Amino acid sequence: MQAKPSLIREDGLYHSFCGLVSVGWLYQKIKDSFFLILGTHTCAHLLQNTLGVMIFARPRFAVSLLEEADLSSSQPDISAQIEEIKREHHPSVIFLLSSCTPEVMKVEFEGLAASVSTPEVPVLFVPASGLDYTFSQSEDSVLQALIPFCPPAPPDDRRVVFLGSVNDAIADDFSLEAARLGIPVAGFLPASHFSELPPIGSGTVVAPLQPYLHKTATQLRNERGCTVLSSLFPFGPDGTRRFWEDLAAQFGMKVDLSEREAAAWQRIKHHTDLLRGKKIFFASDTLMELPLARFLKACGAEVVECSTPYINRRFHAAELAALDGVRLVEQANFNRQLQTIKETRPDLIISNIITTNPLVGQGTVAKWGTEYCFLPIHGWAGVNNLVTSFTRALQRHAKLDPLGSDPIWLTGIMPSSPGGVISLQS
Ligand code: SF4
Repeated sequence: MQAKPSLIREDGLYHSFCGLVSVGWLYQKIKDSFFLILGTHTCAHLLQNTLGVMIFARPRFAVSLLEEADLSSSQPDISAQIEEIKREHHPSVIFLLSSCTPEVMKVEFEGLAASVSTPEVPVLFVPASGLDYTFSQSEDSVLQALIPFCPPAPPDDRRVVFLGSVNDAIADDFSLEAARLGIPVAGFLPASHFSELPPIGSGTVVAPLQPYLHKTATQLRNERGCTVLSSLFPFGPDGTRRFWEDLAAQFGMKVDLSEREAAAWQRIKHHTDLLRGKKIFFASDTLMELPLARFLKACGAEVVECSTPYINRRFHAAELAALDGVRLVEQANFNRQLQTIKETRPDLIISNIITTNPLVGQGTVAKWGTEYCFLPIHGWAGVNNLVTSFTRALQRHAKLDPLGSDPIWLTGIMPSSPGGVISLQS
């Protein structure tokens, strides 16, 4: 009988990045889109700082700043901004994103989007504030908003739709690999252009590329009757092989990619030798933690703990099974994590934007997990980027600290949230 991973839910106070940052990769992916955020100066500063916008870049996103007077009305007037966006940027679709303040003030976003939407340029409401479990879920909300614009496909149209935003090079790699295996492709959700959204019907096989898209997958299954592939996500040689073999099986084909997998492992042997036996601790907030931990386990690393903001037992079923024996924690308590880190002394901590620098300041090797949402790490083409993202962090630390001194574990304080402190010594 297969052992189950130990799964604990701590209901800790989770400090996550804001969902608005998904605009950074989605506006580049959907090339004829515009993202309008109804928010405050805080939201504008976040986007300005995290996305590093240059004034001459003419980015296809903007923040419509709310003043106090706007909040007294349940429906602020944004028609002038929408007209300006159409005039200046000629988008095919505009996404209207909420933020914390208008959501708390109960601004009626659905009605607001409908009031400025036209058949030529739809304006689609997307809930994307910092009130979700974590920031990557806002891509899920954007894709849900696009579902009504995917044309219906007849039941005999049996093709795959790849679900999740990946860059053009990775998308090309998936198209080529599908052609090589004889798997017919209907397209990608999201597509590079609004007019290229794939047809989806009961014959479609939806193959998720990202582990944070369970809402879109569930809605497609319920509304269009399509099949959602249940497999490992295509990260690393092990995940990529399972993904393609399981997808081929959906099309009645039995393929054996064991040689392909072995060759991919051989190519990265120099890196897996470095990872073997290393203790890795996941304390990040991307919802990519399960497949990344599974890949590291396959590399021979010891995953001391894998914390993640949310686990969907159906959508993540194959990853959960592959994480046999690993301690999994949903919504971890960061105070408890600090204690576990102190006791287990991991070689590498994958952390989030708020906690990485303080952890590094304490002498541990910590790496910012957020970048996995931006990195081209999918499929066969992404294997090298994936493994080096971990080994680079270890190698950089070894160069900085040739004596390999132990973590400092000062009686220090680490900022946890505005106004709060966490002591490393309990
Ligand atoms: Fe704006 Fe809320 Fe995000 Fe802060 S967390 S940037 S207030 S939406």
